[in-house]
Amino acid sequence: MLAPKTQRRYCIYCRKHTLHDVKRSSGHKKSPLREGERRFHRKMKGFGSFPKSNPKDREKPTRKVDLRYKCAECKKEHNIGKGFRVKKFEIQTEKKEK
Ligand SMILES: [Zn+2]
Repeated sequence: MLAPKTQRRYCIYCRKHTLHDVKRSSGHKKSPLREGERRFHRKMKGFGSFPKSNPKDREKPTRKVDLRYKCAECKKEHNIGKGFRVKKFEIQTEKKEK
């Protein structure tokens, strides 16, 4: 997937549509364990049956991409949505001229 470098998006700070720089957010902090994860760890410790093989063995074929948008007017960054899974992700460096 090739994403455009700048996008016109709604800025939650300016409360209007402005140009945004698209940036790939990096260095994801590991979030605290969610309920499902905790339940899963409990299972793996041996309470009840062993439901599935350890996920460490099977890697996912795609990676999740999270985007950050930097408003050109107020210079604030914000995330939109939860990110999505793609095999390949690039941010367009030069605008294609028609
Ligand atoms: Zn703004």
